[in-house]
Amino acid sequence: MSVTNSEIVSETPLSLLKRVYGYDAFRGLQADVIDDVMAGRDTLAVLPTGGGKSLCYQIPAILRGGVGLVVSPLIALMADQVDALKALGVRAERLDSSMAPEDKQAALEAARRGEMDMLYVSPEALGTGLAGVLTRLGVSVIAIDEAHCVSQWGHDFRPDYRALSRLKQLFPGVPRIAVTATADERTRDDILHELDLTSPQVHVASFDRPNLTLGAEPKAGKRADRVASLVKAHSGESGIVYAATRDATETLAESLERAGLSALAYHAGLDPEVRAERQRRFLLEDGIVMCATVAFGMGVDKPDVRFVIHADPPKTLEAYWQEVGRAGRDGKPAEAFALFGPADMRRSISWTVESDAAEEVKRVQLTKTRQLFAFLNGTECRRGAVRRYFGEENVAPCGECDNCQREPGEGFDATRFAQMAVSAVIRCGQRIGRGRLIIHLTGSARDGFDEDLAQLSTYGIGTDLSKQGWNAVFDELLFSGLLAETGDAMRPVLAVPDQEAARALFKGDREVWLRTDPSQRKTTRKRSGMAAAAVHDLSERDQSLFEALRNWRLETAKAKGVPPYVIFHDRTLAAIAAERPASGDELRNISGVGEKKAGRYADDIARIVAEAA
Ligand code: ADP
Ligand code: ZN
Repeated sequence: MSVTNSEIVSETPLSLLKRVYGYDAFRGLQADVIDDVMAGRDTLAVLPTGGGKSLCYQIPAILRGGVGLVVSPLIALMADQVDALKALGVRAERLDSSMAPEDKQAALEAARRGEMDMLYVSPEALGTGLAGVLTRLGVSVIAIDEAHCVSQWGHDFRPDYRALSRLKQLFPGVPRIAVTATADERTRDDILHELDLTSPQVHVASFDRPNLTLGAEPKAGKRADRVASLVKAHSGESGIVYAATRDATETLAESLERAGLSALAYHAGLDPEVRAERQRRFLLEDGIVMCATVAFGMGVDKPDVRFVIHADPPKTLEAYWQEVGRAGRDGKPAEAFALFGPADMRRSISWTVESDAAEEVKRVQLTKTRQLFAFLNGTECRRGAVRRYFGEENVAPCGECDNCQREPGEGFDATRFAQMAVSAVIRCGQRIGRGRLIIHLTGSARDGFDEDLAQLSTYGIGTDLSKQGWNAVFDELLFSGLLAETGDAMRPVLAVPDQEAARALFKGDREVWLRTDPSQRKTTRKRSGMAAAAVHDLSERDQSLFEALRNWRLETAKAKGVPPYVIFHDRTLAAIAAERPASGDELRNISGVGEKKAGRYADDIARIVAEAA
């Protein structure tokens, strides 16, 4: 089959989707994005990995007369895409530095004759004499894949993407579409600005991945054992274990093999044939665990990867979301779990500081590193935290991640400390950094240092916590958005970005929870057997009431924007299920129910108990 211009005159994007790709309907924002590009508008589309970005430019490229130019950063990806398109009968070719001159010539000639739908080029090609040749081809649309690479604020800045700012002059009037899976608001602004898109249409999909259950914990004990136990929970399923170094991928694969699992190592140091063979096995065989560096994964479109484990933390939240997004592409439940430690954070910071990147790039990197670790160490709903990071608003907790599921014994209500910290930030004029704020809160300023600030009412109100304890509080406040770092990223000052949220904190409508008691700096205890035992002791009849109570708790927590355990512990729900309190007074007698909660929830609980009776 070949697609010629005469055949497509009356073809719509939808009929082409069906005819060429064999799909019945567009997904998510695809149809809107395609409509804009078809209408000749400049467009930015931010769709999650697996969201079907390629179709957003391929379909207009096929439908619009002339050749569609696709700028793509990775030669390997280009080759795959071109092969896949050819297999569908689409006339696609690529031009990159690895090709023989005569092949390049042949591709250009075909394009000139109008016998081509799509031409993939590398960004650096546009910086060379080739650009002039391309302008004479009759280009119908230009797609910029992985567009976040154009931004210094993005997590994967590529200097050769700078050449793309010339596209507007080189191809005046040709619509351009930039696509990416990961771009926070600032990166999106950079893309629009750097590419100088004309009155751009911006489409940002939700970053929710409802089928992914997220978790993270600090590294402790032997890492290989922890990884093995996480993998064993998925025995027989395909998954990826990411590690930071080549050595670590090898040793993890060996230890998983010793534990009786099928594991392979994958990194850039292996022979290309070995890599290709291992990738092939991962794709075709069931239940292979790939222990890999981040060299693995780009373009690996295996739908039934059931877990992604970070044995070392990712580089940024953008990288995290992209990497965990390789699990559960088929929409069925999948798990992502990350291990992290203070040494990882120090390493990441020192690598950035010592790199020879531009100052501005380093600053961005450092901010992103801090945000990543605040996220990993945070106790907020993880899916919610990521979605907020990418700019989504009014996000409800998922109810499924480790933080949403955590038993209260493992969490610590640090609302009081959070109130102190935020009021200190405000009183001190939102112009000093964390170090000075901690000195201020603990009242440890030496003579002559910060004397003005020492007159304020917040001076010395926080002596209950050590410096480490306060650091834990500030980390959490930063990530939950109650505070933000502004100014010089090397020496950031803390400010209150959201007055509304701060007011809610002071009124007690918003709570702040930490993993552990910051005044003790105890290590996290594993989920105690207590709650589980209490639940198992329930009769079948009580058990179903318990489940009903849990559902109510999740709904209530979602409505209030808090983790479920903030409403009631599992233990408390189990006791309610067993005792079946009929009145507010009876409810108050149950352990874990205070006066306030008894007053607030008595009616709800009475109703659920009555319904279950
Ligand atoms: P991305 O580049 O956003 O990660 P792709 O464009 O590679 O995603 O698409 C991911 C997978 O989804 C591919 O296998 C693709 O063929 C498939 N796909 C894309 N659009 C649709 C659709 N409308 N219906 C069904 N499958 C689709
Ligand atoms: Zn959650």
